[in-house]
Amino acid sequence: MSRYWSAVVSELTPYVPGEQPKLPGLVKLNTNENPYGPSPQVLAALREAAADTLRLYPDPSASELKQTLAEYHGVSTREVFVGNGSDEVLALAFMALLKHDAPLLFPDISYSFYPVYCKLYGIDYRTVPLDEQMRIRPDDYAGPCGAIIFPNPNAPTGIGLGLAAVESILLAHPEAVVVVDEAYVDFGGDSAVALIARYPNLLVVQTLSKSRSLAGLRVGFALGHPDLIEALERVKNSFNSYPLDRLSLAGAMASFRDEVYFQQTRQAVIDSREQLAFELAGMGFEVLPSQANFIFAHHPQHDAAQLAAGLRARSVIVRHFNAPRISQFLRISIGSPDECAALVRALRELL
Ligand code: PMP
Repeated sequence: MSRYWSAVVSELTPYVPGEQPKLPGLVKLNTNENPYGPSPQVLAALREAAADTLRLYPDPSASELKQTLAEYHGVSTREVFVGNGSDEVLALAFMALLKHDAPLLFPDISYSFYPVYCKLYGIDYRTVPLDEQMRIRPDDYAGPCGAIIFPNPNAPTGIGLGLAAVESILLAHPEAVVVVDEAYVDFGGDSAVALIARYPNLLVVQTLSKSRSLAGLRVGFALGHPDLIEALERVKNSFNSYPLDRLSLAGAMASFRDEVYFQQTRQAVIDSREQLAFELAGMGFEVLPSQANFIFAHHPQHDAAQLAAGLRARSVIVRHFNAPRISQFLRISIGSPDECAALVRALRELL
């Protein structure tokens, strides 16, 4: 606390991302990064973009990247917004679209950044409990609200919601914006992009951090009706004209040109996930059915915090949330086959 702070600063509860320790030999399964590097075409595009042109500002409207995304997803460029990671896209969406008189709804177990944005902008919100199987139940979102946001697949559970269920939420709330945060959708979820043409209240947010292995480049985007996109642009252009630099723009576009690499690596992650889920179940873990690049599991006989500490002592780090309902779970990112094997070996020792 300092007397120089604005009044709002001391009231904030900032989000704490998973740690990024720089220890050699660490098996890092705590922040849902992709074990495979970005496409070689992305690296080539980044090298090419590292040129004299860096003295020039990037395109403030990122038109070429929007064009790439529009073509890839079969929408028009007016239905595309891009930002510095999907966290930034979400931050702008909370301000532009989710602050209303009635409360914003999101699941009680969900991306823990949502309440942080609410605090930042003074958004009234209500959390809706997941059911006993840790699933989102669309009926629980019926009734008046200001707006709705949920990840699909949900985080940290990894459980996906089918398209019909997403559509039932949209149908029940023509008056409210529904944001579907699809950070993990490429690992087996059902994308709501197909519904954009029919639902002007739908905003779909995706990221290049996970399935395109570009967490370090910081690129996210939103797809939705031009009116929703315009709201995001208005806030963005009142905040930062150039959230995406020349390198990010070049790398992001190149990533969508290498479909083969994208398909191969995301399938490899899915295969490793199924293998790991099978092995964990064999060790007595109860594993939630994941459609993401992580697994959420708990062991009936072993305390999750102790398991996480034991793993750490064996140079394997996973994420443990000391939060209601999930304090006995571990969230384990899907690593390479070698990393998954190291995790299983360490767990065998601990159990
Ligand atoms: N949404 C969800 C559900 C996430 O788990 C994350 C990753 N922490 C993000 C959005 C943000 O990812 P990024 O800013 O890297 O695009």
